[in-house]
Amino acid sequence: MSDTLSINSERLWTRLMDMARYGALPGGGNNRQALTDEDKAGREQFMAWCREIGCEVRLDAIGNIFARRAGSDNTLPPVITGSHLDTQPSGGKFDGIYGVLGGLEVLHTLHDQNVKTVHPLEVVVWTNEEGCRFDTAMMGSAVWSGAMSLDSAYALTDRDHLSVKSELERIDHLGEHSATAGAIHAALELHIEQGPVLEAEGETIGIVTGVQHMSRHRIVVFGQEAHAGPTPMELRKDPVMALARMLPPLYEIAERHAPDGRITFGYINAEPGSSNTVPGRLEITIDIRHPQAAQYEQMLEEYNKAVRDACDQLELDVQMSCFWEAPGITFDARCIEAVRSSARGHGYTTREMCSGAGHDSCNVHTVAPTSMIFIPCEGGLSHNEAENVLPEDAAAGANILLGAILELAGVAGEA
Ligand SMILES: [Zn+2]
Repeated sequence: MSDTLSINSERLWTRLMDMARYGALPGGGNNRQALTDEDKAGREQFMAWCREIGCEVRLDAIGNIFARRAGSDNTLPPVITGSHLDTQPSGGKFDGIYGVLGGLEVLHTLHDQNVKTVHPLEVVVWTNEEGCRFDTAMMGSAVWSGAMSLDSAYALTDRDHLSVKSELERIDHLGEHSATAGAIHAALELHIEQGPVLEAEGETIGIVTGVQHMSRHRIVVFGQEAHAGPTPMELRKDPVMALARMLPPLYEIAERHAPDGRITFGYINAEPGSSNTVPGRLEITIDIRHPQAAQYEQMLEEYNKAVRDACDQLELDVQMSCFWEAPGITFDARCIEAVRSSARGHGYTTREMCSGAGHDSCNVHTVAPTSMIFIPCEGGLSHNEAENVLPEDAAAGANILLGAILELAGVAGEA
């Protein structure tokens, strides 16, 4: 029976649209930043929906919400699923929200069909995933998994100097339960891709096997300011000449490690920034990513060499530093396999992929077997009011989640 169970796609879509009324913007998007009145309203709507189907709802000390559906053996650790309800200041209706309401839809379907799982199930809403009002992304899951202390999360403040703790108290969502992970059997997060790959390749489900390795570097090249007229080209110490020499080999690195290697120059600045002065200082940033550790390390080596070679040829001093690095993540093989087999059962087209962005699952994975499911989003657009998905894709992802959860949690009464 569990193989053929399907979620109620209309109910899922209606709830997505209902949730989007809290903090609705004229352009169709949402402004529901963490711990605002709008966020409180959305969170309470979610809790009300969970209680309607008999879930026990609890809040922990950082405001994470857990809605629990009992299993046949409640001494066993739960299978958890969920994401976040907070949005960017001009966010969309789906980033995070889809994973929470998809999880609720799975529980509601099991409730309708009277299916009991062996392990209990919990749908989680992680507090302040976006990190825009309070400047730490994935905050609630970071505290829960031990990556951040409760006190440092409480102390974060917004632009009006309001703290996380005082805002949790104000909206009455500071729970009495400890914000510490207990034993978890498995964790799954359903999310929109936030990139263009699934849509471009015409596939419905992304089986997410991990999160890519990524780092950001700053390069400063020192030259000598000089007059643009009297100074002959061969006598200049011009750091932009070094840039001209390093860009082609750096882009070649991305080509050599295609299709997964990514190199981005997001910031290029020559000083003093005067049109008739040879610049004395050049600063650029480079963001380097690859899903495979070996190739990523190789890209870093090649990057170092390309920059040093370019500066050596021109006898210019250079400083290179890495200012941010997030090691890649390989998700749990058993969770990935549960998603794969659920997708096979439903006959959806799939693609195995790495996430290019961070998610609460990056924290959850440090304390529990974890993986993720992606669905396509229109034009790959996210963190944008126009963020959109097809209702049939939303239903497909929730069906995959349902099948994977049943496989991981077990169905009571089935051999
Ligand atoms: Zn998200």
